[in-house]
Amino acid sequence: MTPASPSDPVLNDLVDALDGRLVRAYDEDWDSARAPWNLAIDQRPVAVAYPAGPEDLRRILSAARADGHRVTVQPRGHGPAGDVSGCILVRTSAFDEIVIDERRRVARVGSGVSWGALLARLDGSGLVALAGSNPDVSVAGLLLGGGHSWFSRWRGIAACSIRAVELVDATGELRRVTAESDPELLWALRGAGGLFGIVTALEIDLYPAPDLFGGTIVFPASAAEAVFASVATIMADAPPELSIFFGLINLPDIEQVPPPLRGQTVANAEVVFVGTAEDAAPLLAPLLASAPVLADGTRPFTIGHLAEVAAEPIEPAATLEWTAAITSFAGGDEAGLGALARAFREATPAGLTVLGIRALGGAVAEQGADATAVAGRLDARYLAFAGSFLTGQGHADPEAVFGPLRRALAGSTLGLTLPTYLTTGQDLTHSFTPETLERLASVKRRLDPDRIFTSNRPLGPGSGSSSDTD
Ligand SMILES: Cc1cc2nc3c(=O)[nH]c(=O)nc-3n(C[C@H](O)[C@H](O)[C@H](O)COP(=O)(O)OP(=O)(O)OC[C@H]3O[C@@H](n4cnc5c(N)ncnc54)[C@H](O)[C@@H]3O)c2cc1C
Repeated sequence: MTPASPSDPVLNDLVDALDGRLVRAYDEDWDSARAPWNLAIDQRPVAVAYPAGPEDLRRILSAARADGHRVTVQPRGHGPAGDVSGCILVRTSAFDEIVIDERRRVARVGSGVSWGALLARLDGSGLVALAGSNPDVSVAGLLLGGGHSWFSRWRGIAACSIRAVELVDATGELRRVTAESDPELLWALRGAGGLFGIVTALEIDLYPAPDLFGGTIVFPASAAEAVFASVATIMADAPPELSIFFGLINLPDIEQVPPPLRGQTVANAEVVFVGTAEDAAPLLAPLLASAPVLADGTRPFTIGHLAEVAAEPIEPAATLEWTAAITSFAGGDEAGLGALARAFREATPAGLTVLGIRALGGAVAEQGADATAVAGRLDARYLAFAGSFLTGQGHADPEAVFGPLRRALAGSTLGLTLPTYLTTGQDLTHSFTPETLERLASVKRRLDPDRIFTSNRPLGPGSGSSSDTD
């Protein structure tokens, strides 16, 4: 049952003071307002705020201080941690500006802007930004968490493209953070970006890419071992312009999936190449010859169509997730990736839906350790993601779903991963070394000594911060 009337005078005043909106437990849209993208997570903040601008952010901060609450930002909710109790949860949808400066190759992007919206605006410009695979994720959410992009092998961890960050800090001041104004804070924001303030806008680098080629190639699931081995061979000396995300998927029996593939298990290779079809052809020929091809969706495309390559779901869904950064396989790539394919088959009856593996290398491996809080720490060769899409009220047993993958990867993982790859309940001790965590904690103490801000990805215990969480 929801409370019949408001009982908190500070929040009552905030409702009146805001130009935007504050949603609380007795409001009709409370359940949709508080829900993250991952519907398996039942998060219960104190209230959900939709500020109209920086002045509203100051009002929210004052109210949080007066009431002893904390503030957390969740633009789209693709990476929720689960625990936002005691927090006012801020959604930045009103911060929606996009300004493209083609001459300077810089985009100014509000912190509520999704990748889909930014890439649509870049379409036809011949310029690209370091986008990930999903158009519904926010630009801020991906970049402030490090971010793995289709273009990471070419241009590095996506956070490195951040030139400037504008944020409302713990005192309510609107700061502009650049490499000149505060290099240490900029370093920290490029990976641990939710800990220091409410970001209102980012300025990011754009890169010329007049030709793009790519799409998904679909193979029978039985050929997964051959396909994975072929991708590993290609990527061992591929140019950084080529990215391949590959894996296995149990396709749902739904209308959106074309009939021959509907309800089937398939292996896939999702390709993005910065260059022409002619230059991509010799690189991809061994892959196309590695197994019978069920469908080949590769074609020239423009940046506004990037999301079609992976065609990931954008509607909120209940998912159980697992990720790992793979260093190397003791028995070599062919054997190690083959073991992962077999683990996928073993875990399918327990509810495993998808396994996606991204080949790293290129600029990710070369990025200087000081470029971001992430770079230089991601000393891995592959990023793996596995997910179980839960239907109805279904609950899957995480050990049954992910145990086979974990066992197949024993001794082959880094133990640390990108902050954007952290799953529910994981903190930044799963992304950074103790030295980096201490450096981040020191920035936190300087910027937010009272710890008014908390993040989906807090620093974690033993990281030199004054609290057990952040
Ligand atoms: C289907 C899917 C595909 C994905 N693909 C990729 C991918 O290709 N590459 C990749 O790296 N990741 C990927 N992710 C992970 C995703 O990038 C992260 O979970 C990201 O943080 C989610 O963005 P969001 O906009 O939903 O942010 P939310 O989950 O809403 O927030 C994430 C965190 O970002 C910080 N934050 C966001 N905005 C602000 C702000 N304005 N001020 C201060 N802090 C802020 C906060 O710490 C917040 O806790 C994917 C996730 C999903 C579900």
